[in-house]
Amino acid sequence: MSNKQFKAESKRVLDLMINSIYTNKEIFLRELISNASDAMDKLYFRSLTDNTINVKREDLKIKIDIDKENRTLTITDNGCGMNEEELDKNLGTIAKSGSLKFKKENEKAENVDIIGQFGVGFYSAFMVSDFVKVESRTPNSEKAYCWSSKGVEGYKIEECTKDDIGTKITLHIKEDSEEENYSQFLDSYKIQDIIKKYSDYIHYPIQMEVEHKKKKEGTENEYETVKELETINSMIPIWKKDKKKVTEEEYDNFFKDKFHDYEKPLKVIHTSVEGQYKYTSLLYIPAHLPYDYYTKDYEKGLQLYANGVLIMEKCEDLLPDYFGFVKGLVDSEDLSLNISREMLQHDRQLRVIAKNIENKIRTELEKMLKEDREKYEQFFKTFGLQLKYGTYNDYGVNKEKLQDLLLFYSSTEKKLVTLKEYVERMKEEQKVIYYASGETVDKIDLLPQVELLKDKGYEVLYLTDNVDEFVLQVLMNYDVKTFQNACSENLDLDSEEEKEELKKANEENKEMFKTMKEDLNNEVQDIRFTHRLKNHPVCLTSEGVISVEMEKTLNAMPNSQGIKAQTVLEINEKHPIANKLKELYKEDKEKLKNYTKILYAQARLIEGLNIENPTEISNLVCEILSK
Ligand code: ADP
Repeated sequence: MSNKQFKAESKRVLDLMINSIYTNKEIFLRELISNASDAMDKLYFRSLTDNTINVKREDLKIKIDIDKENRTLTITDNGCGMNEEELDKNLGTIAKSGSLKFKKENEKAENVDIIGQFGVGFYSAFMVSDFVKVESRTPNSEKAYCWSSKGVEGYKIEECTKDDIGTKITLHIKEDSEEENYSQFLDSYKIQDIIKKYSDYIHYPIQMEVEHKKKKEGTENEYETVKELETINSMIPIWKKDKKKVTEEEYDNFFKDKFHDYEKPLKVIHTSVEGQYKYTSLLYIPAHLPYDYYTKDYEKGLQLYANGVLIMEKCEDLLPDYFGFVKGLVDSEDLSLNISREMLQHDRQLRVIAKNIENKIRTELEKMLKEDREKYEQFFKTFGLQLKYGTYNDYGVNKEKLQDLLLFYSSTEKKLVTLKEYVERMKEEQKVIYYASGETVDKIDLLPQVELLKDKGYEVLYLTDNVDEFVLQVLMNYDVKTFQNACSENLDLDSEEEKEELKKANEENKEMFKTMKEDLNNEVQDIRFTHRLKNHPVCLTSEGVISVEMEKTLNAMPNSQGIKAQTVLEINEKHPIANKLKELYKEDKEKLKNYTKILYAQARLIEGLNIENPTEISNLVCEILSK
């Protein structure tokens, strides 16, 4: 026998459970039943390949017993059980490491349904009990072990006797308090209700001794109370029920339970397909990204069932990467029970199902976009980045499929719009789709280059995600309209006359620009006058495929190669500074150098780029200010 301490993390979670102000305490039963069902799945699954294990599916059952006198509730299963080491490992620590991090972040939101999300499921037993005993025996083992605990102080594991394989969990139900009626969990009807509410679909019978009044044999109207073993759950999985008969709440509860989520899903997609291959799928778009989505621990995939029996927990081939956040399951009558992972990969039927599922998710999203814009925007804020990655990954093979699901912020609409909507609004003479990138919508809105476009009445898409520009590059065009960066040098907005005028001014000052460029150690590709700036003196534009924003993104990546955008310093020809420069070129070349440095630094700052020597620039500015 050994007395053990819980791991620090587990202790905190346990503490949270015991002192939980969480009102929905009844879900502890759902958690324990779900564990029991998993354990039986595991055992059955093992028996398919291990012939020392002999199980008949119809023998697998969960039994619930109530002992009012001793205030105990017992949950018994004949699943895979746990040996001494497993009892220690599984019940002494929290299974998944993200749990506490999540809790810290959500400390304020105590009441949020975090229970069950991170493998704290078993600990929820402590919400209603002050003593928990777990007796367990694994197949092919003579010995059985008993884990027991009164809560945070610790637990012990000792050998015990147990006749059959499986796990028996005994909860000693807490005494009633002023706020809480714990005795309800010793009431047979209440327990039956809870089972029906949360665990109806469990595909093993959940049995209880239920009292009935029956006519005494051989009498006319004498009754006696008899106890009969009854199966409480319908055992019909929710996805096999008629869609019209399943309530939203049932779908949501199933999702929370099955996929350990604390929030109800954003969208449920339930379909039965007849056709060439028969299958049913139940898909969920969660309301938020899984906490570990961007870690290597995250595995996408759908559960795969062969006629109601789980054959694979995560079948990744059923989902494309960009829909990797979708949760759910597929059940097909035509799949074989003991099909292996390798065989599945080559399975034609599975590929057809995967294709159908991808199409289904996409069309449902398109429908949401059309019919419930608000909800779609909520979806896009959470998962839009995935769709963008999907568009540009693999050299854009999926771009056609995804481009109409993308949203970008619009300068004129002041909200997210689709490319289709943009194109429909384009002015008659407008040939290209304008965009500008930056850190935030507000910053982009202040860019001098953008102002001119807005003044001329053009709509500009504001790109704030790092991937956005890469996405547009992969798309190349939309509805034969190409994309044009507002901050690139060849923005063709002037009339022929204006163009001529500008060309002349640049020609005349060629030598001056050459000197200025040298003053900047050739850091810019070019310096020139522009007409695109309205009242602003300078801006920095880019030439070639790499824009300034892309430079920032590329260089923020690990192993960056120090990629540089080719930039052009543009100076407003109509701004007084233009004449000042010309003057200095004639009279004071040293001063021109300082002015050039300041103008360049300003242009970089406007673009959100850093400047190499801020002290020098500050000194130069102050020198001029003090005159
Ligand atoms: P989760 O079920 O989310 O993994 P739990 O805290 O509920 O987290 O359970 C921890 C682990 O203990 C399970 O993953 C499982 O390995 C084991 N376990 C719990 N209940 C049983 C049971 N009735 N039979 C066998 N193993 C169990």
